Amino acid sequence: MRSSLLLLGLCAFSVYPLLAQPNPDRPDLRQGAYFSEADGAKTLAEYGKLHQDRAGWEKRAALIRQGIRDGLRLPEKPAFAPLKPIRHSLRTLDGYTVENVAFESVPGFYVTGNLYRPVSLKGKTAAVLCPHGHTAKQDARFVEQTQQRCATMARLGAVVFVYDMLGYGDSRQCDHKIAEAPRLQTLNSIRALDFLTSLPEVDRERVAVSGESGGGTQTFLLTALDPRVKVSVPVVMVSAHFFGGCVCESGMPIHKRPTHETDNVEIAALAAPRPMLMVSDGKDWTKNTPNVEFPYVQRIYGYYNAKDRVENLHLAAEGHDYGPSKRAAAYRFLAKHLKLDLNRILKDGQIDESTNTLLTPADLAVFNDAYPRPANAVMGDEAVMSLLK
Ligand SMILES: [Zn+2]
Repeated sequence: MRSSLLLLGLCAFSVYPLLAQPNPDRPDLRQGAYFSEADGAKTLAEYGKLHQDRAGWEKRAALIRQGIRDGLRLPEKPAFAPLKPIRHSLRTLDGYTVENVAFESVPGFYVTGNLYRPVSLKGKTAAVLCPHGHTAKQDARFVEQTQQRCATMARLGAVVFVYDMLGYGDSRQCDHKIAEAPRLQTLNSIRALDFLTSLPEVDRERVAVSGESGGGTQTFLLTALDPRVKVSVPVVMVSAHFFGGCVCESGMPIHKRPTHETDNVEIAALAAPRPMLMVSDGKDWTKNTPNVEFPYVQRIYGYYNAKDRVENLHLAAEGHDYGPSKRAAAYRFLAKHLKLDLNRILKDGQIDESTNTLLTPADLAVFNDAYPRPANAVMGDEAVMSLLK
């Protein structure tokens, strides 16, 4: 029962929260469809009684933020290896470039991904960090929707870094579902921000993060923890009743703490008052967003007189993906809040992705015969877990 629930969470493009059972073996966790829709909404309304103004919210926000740190056993200052990025296979395409990149996170573990940049960069520009969701073939970095969004954001003028989940793409040092996956993925996200903001062309005041599904979870966790994130676009994930179906999202106790209980709506609201676009749809656990999750988050932005900085795009007829209409909303929101020129990606008033080039996984590979994985990369679940001790 439990494993089938977790499996459901892995099928990013056809996922439905059919099972709603707390896990009796892990009473400290809220996983998957932990609440019914009605109970999720009711519980969120109860949380809403715990704060009435900015001061009240900030007290609770500090508790929730500390709860994430403690739940993930995240040190205040993680001990990372020196950032010595490996960059190769630069390709110049129509309006943007792509490179294959790796760098060390915790010593012995490498973050792998692709760096997309606009051509003819002048001065400093904005940056977007792109985590991704789950796919059955563990190839989410290479799939069309991911390549399209990275290419278009680069054409829009941003420096974009998309990085593998554990066990995906080039990240083959351990299995995806190691017990402390949420901890290592969060450390990798922080290190990916270090990488992006280390680039001389990146304006550190204009840094966004956006991902869908499991990448949405990574988006709101990183935004909650790291003030370097200035704009957040979590896609098809923020829910009052669903807590993430995979161990990498809900496998460590961030929602139930000795001091409080919370959900992903409140975690996403830790973005306030930074601009945030919540993208939701009619066919997954974000189906109630316009009536449940969004009003809650908007009320918190209201404490900062910043209701106009949080938006919800709800696509009632759509499903669980980061498809063209969701991407279009993200591009417009990012252009507005990162001060980028939307005209760069418009054709006849519409967003045009027809000039993007889809590359093969081999084109995008970080590690291959010519560029082998560095010798100090540890291999295997146990070896990776021991790095976290
Ligand atoms: Zn996962």
